[in-house]
Amino acid sequence: MIPLSVPNIAGNEWQYVKDCLDTNWISSVGSYVDRFEQMLAEFTGVPYAVACVNGTSALHISMLLAGVQPEDYVIVPNITFVASVNSIRYCFAKPILMDVDAESWQMDLDLLESFLAEQTFQENGSLYLKADRKRIGAIMPVHVLGNMVDMDRFMDIVSRYPLPVVEDSTEALGSYYKDKHAGSMGLFGCFSFNGNKIISTGGGGMIVTHDQALAKRAKHITTTAKSDPFEYMHDETGYNYRLVNVLAAVGVAQMEQLPGFIQRKQEIAQAYYDGLSGVGDIRFQKITENVEPNQWLFTIKTARQREVLAHLNANKIQSRPFWVPMNQLPMYKDDLFIQHNNTSQSIYETCLSIPCSTNITDEEVQTVIRTIGEVFAS
Ligand SMILES: *Cc1c(COP(=O)(O)O)cnc(C)c1O
Repeated sequence: MIPLSVPNIAGNEWQYVKDCLDTNWISSVGSYVDRFEQMLAEFTGVPYAVACVNGTSALHISMLLAGVQPEDYVIVPNITFVASVNSIRYCFAKPILMDVDAESWQMDLDLLESFLAEQTFQENGSLYLKADRKRIGAIMPVHVLGNMVDMDRFMDIVSRYPLPVVEDSTEALGSYYKDKHAGSMGLFGCFSFNGNKIISTGGGGMIVTHDQALAKRAKHITTTAKSDPFEYMHDETGYNYRLVNVLAAVGVAQMEQLPGFIQRKQEIAQAYYDGLSGVGDIRFQKITENVEPNQWLFTIKTARQREVLAHLNANKIQSRPFWVPMNQLPMYKDDLFIQHNNTSQSIYETCLSIPCSTNITDEEVQTVIRTIGEVFAS
């Protein structure tokens, strides 16, 4: 079987994990947590990083610390992994689902701009939806598949409003807009290290921010908000969202390999561009101008999506359809959906992701290309 996207454990993982086990530093404190945080901060060019148990918890805490209140709205793209929207619901807030651009598959910025201009108003330093006068507490751009939102334009639009930005950059470790790393432009950036992300700790996440006080708050609230080193005194309802040292040790080893992983993802993408261009009606995600993507999860677009999926999976090549749009999930179907030309639906019906693990061989990539070709030859 050729898997879709699996972890690549090829460096110092065993050695660092053994070090944790040998020294008994397996749990919630330890030097690998600090090292992993430092490495993320350095790599992304953001001064502070706080490790979390997964990407979803990183988003949840970022929403809370951005000031999202119960009953608030948060703007989020309609095409994303469900965790983005779940993190909003965890704050008892509601999503405003924004349709995406048909070419780049990122939040549609024309639509966002007109929505903000026509359907919102500002009062006392906050932004409100005209329809029900409820506050809009934050906006969450998602850098879908490691391609990115056009961040100059996005920040230009958003800067006209009192609207904190939490970047869901969980898929975009190693992606750059101009010389700025994904996740480095908002109030917070969030990363994920689950099994299929570009680096993996099994499960894990990270918050990055330029604000030292917010970073301290994030550390505090993710570690049960204990306010006294000796007494069990806690000064608010905190969370047990910390990443354990054993997993941070895996993370340090994975970070050491990240430049190589990015290079390999880009080589795989190039092989697919070369091998699949002109095959049937296949199209690719349009990379946003000024973006250097990490090519995390290679995804193609074709009207014969279901046939290609079936043929690949029948040939033991793992491939997956794109996420069901958020407005079609039972728990979000009644939320506000700002749509344009039914774009989310057509992306859902035509896109599929194909194998691109960093340890896939060149021969396997050619097998995938050949097998896709068979569908269009018939
Ligand atoms: C992976 C992912 C997350 C959540 O990360 P976990 O570590 O699995 O909790 C959030 N948003 C998006 C867009 C993702 O792809």
